[in-house]
Amino acid sequence: MNYSAILETIKNEIAPYARLGHQADYIPALARVNPDQFGICLQTLDGETCAIGDADVRFSIQSISKVFSLALALHFEGEGLWTRMGREPSGSAFNSLVQLEYEHGIPRNPLINAGALVTADVLLAHLDHPEEFFIDFLRTLSGNPSIGYNIEVAVSEHSCGYMNAAIANLLKHYGNIHGDLERVLHLYFMMCAVEMSCRDLAHAFLPFANHQQPFRYDGIALTTSQIKRMNAIMQTCGFYDEAGEFSYLVGLPGKSGVGGGIAAICPSRYAIAVWSPRLNAKGNSIMGMKALELFTTLTAESIF
Ligand code: GLN
Repeated sequence: MNYSAILETIKNEIAPYARLGHQADYIPALARVNPDQFGICLQTLDGETCAIGDADVRFSIQSISKVFSLALALHFEGEGLWTRMGREPSGSAFNSLVQLEYEHGIPRNPLINAGALVTADVLLAHLDHPEEFFIDFLRTLSGNPSIGYNIEVAVSEHSCGYMNAAIANLLKHYGNIHGDLERVLHLYFMMCAVEMSCRDLAHAFLPFANHQQPFRYDGIALTTSQIKRMNAIMQTCGFYDEAGEFSYLVGLPGKSGVGGGIAAICPSRYAIAVWSPRLNAKGNSIMGMKALELFTTLTAESIF
């Protein structure tokens, strides 16, 4: 398959979408990002890498971090994790409060904010220095020792993160946050504020495409069965209330973030990451979704 030619075709075909949507501005530091950027990187399990556009520019991974924190929480807690959260699609916004109250403080799944706040609480219970541990884990997975947190983004979000604080308070009220609330929020905002490029993300997601091999990085081990289950959760819950649409258009397990990134995998084949900051109303990258839709159409490689 000539992946380079396919990526070039995609770049040309998505040009008409370049000015649609706006970047996230509810996190003040993200409002300053140049919205007119686009990058894509494919990493196959055979070792082929293909990148175009701004594939090496680092951006705020935001909710994509929820996949990595879930991997750690599954390693630490195993199936016990599911006593504290569900694994059903939410069908609602990533920061919805209503559903959480209705369901008595049990988040629908780990890939919405409520679930990721509980996951952060789990990491705090198991790790003395979770921020350092998390970034080291991502450095190992991506093979890039220079990735790090953008503290300005984390502080910026924390300073006006009223919805996340409300979710955390509700979780605490229902007994589903065991540690200190401010500490949980700090870790959560830091994990969202990691900066990686499409190339870094494609590398870091590749182990999730390799479900025939147990996952073993920096002492973190996941069984092939746990990787299979993580992919199932990405497929059904990775795009909030647009999970069905992403499944329909693209057909890959993946995760988006309000920084405009999307990372996805094709089991036994490849990992792919795409980034463009302009978002649709659901908080997913417009060019990113279109690019991935074209990719699985042109290659005829998806899980369906
Ligand atoms: N940090 C963002 C928030 O909590 C992450 C949301 C996202 O990427 N969907 O609101």
